[in-house]
Amino acid sequence: MIPRFRPIIGAAEFRALFSAKSERVAAFEHAFADKTGVSGAIAFPYGRSALWAFLKAVGVTGSEVVMPPYTCSVVAHAVALSGNQPRFVDIQLTDYNMDLGRLEEAISEKTRAVIPTHIFGYPVDMDRLTSIVANAEKKYGQKIWVIEDCAHSFGAARNGRLAGTWGDAALYGLNISKIITSIFGGMLTFQDRHLEAEVRKWRDRNFKAPNSLTALKRRLYLLAVYPAFNETLYGITWWLQNRTPLLNRLTKAYHLDDKVHFPPDFRDLMMDVEASVGVAQLQKYDRIIETRRRNAAWYDANLPESDEWVLPPILDGATYSHYPVRTGKRDKLVAELARHGIELGTLIDYSVSDLRSYSGIDDCPNSRAAANSMINLPLMVGDKKLRHIRDAFRSIA
Ligand SMILES: *Cc1c(COP(=O)(O)O)cnc(C)c1O
Repeated sequence: MIPRFRPIIGAAEFRALFSAKSERVAAFEHAFADKTGVSGAIAFPYGRSALWAFLKAVGVTGSEVVMPPYTCSVVAHAVALSGNQPRFVDIQLTDYNMDLGRLEEAISEKTRAVIPTHIFGYPVDMDRLTSIVANAEKKYGQKIWVIEDCAHSFGAARNGRLAGTWGDAALYGLNISKIITSIFGGMLTFQDRHLEAEVRKWRDRNFKAPNSLTALKRRLYLLAVYPAFNETLYGITWWLQNRTPLLNRLTKAYHLDDKVHFPPDFRDLMMDVEASVGVAQLQKYDRIIETRRRNAAWYDANLPESDEWVLPPILDGATYSHYPVRTGKRDKLVAELARHGIELGTLIDYSVSDLRSYSGIDDCPNSRAAANSMINLPLMVGDKKLRHIRDAFRSIA
């Protein structure tokens, strides 16, 4: 079975898992800031914790926070749990990003932050977004924070400028389904050293070291992930995922969580051992992104056309955290490709604006349409598997 995603972990990460070095979190923060083209980075146990902490640290509460509905539900959860109300701006179906033509009307005197997601590695037009926000700041006479959600857009750029370098801060997720991983983990990056220092102080006052049980759990998790994504063993993983509830934490329940709550360790600091894994991953960052771009372009040139699916756009500067294809026959395609030994992902299969906790705030038909039709193809695969996937699509086109 070719997995729908595969963390690129090997001997270096395995060794990092048993390294006893200290001060690794600071080393990871520095290396991460370098790689993402910013002046500083602060590590968190999850991306959601990072966003929650940012809103708390700068004092955004009792306010509205504008975001796209076609993103990870934990973004809305962080907004809600920091005492704010999300407002959803529908997406455009050309690149699945927030439709900036609708942004101005969504901002009001209650808005204190905007969180664009660069979904699937497609960079949002941040020049346009920041100018809309600047106008709104003037109109309402107050600061509106811009936090770029880069969890899907490591290395993505628009007009040569990296995603994550426009906003007041940028948010990254580092769980095993992301471009690079530190087991769990998240990062906030900054260009303003004063703001970074303020948020860092807040983190250090409000986060604590994980207890030994949590620390052990995080280690064991990577130990379990290592064989789970091994080529030959993945058939077993797939079976466990699809036929038993054992791995729900690894897969569905991890993201599609309609309840507004965070895991119990969401305020436990990133561990040195996790940071060591992250540092090892950064060595592979450029190669991973290059492979994603190359394979997305290959699919675009080689997958057959059909009126049963819509291939994704190939855009300048995109990094393809996923290769998102839309189809009206999702279940059928997923089942047929599974028979060819290919696992399709179905990310993102919900619109946050339709989740029970958030429904009735803003209606977003484009987001719902994307959610109901999206599949994504394996991207971190070699040429032979690419051809096998192409042939499978040809046989059903
Ligand atoms: C993964 C992800 C996050 C952060 O998720 P955590 O699991 O909390 O690290 C945020 N936004 C998007 C779009 C994501 O995919």
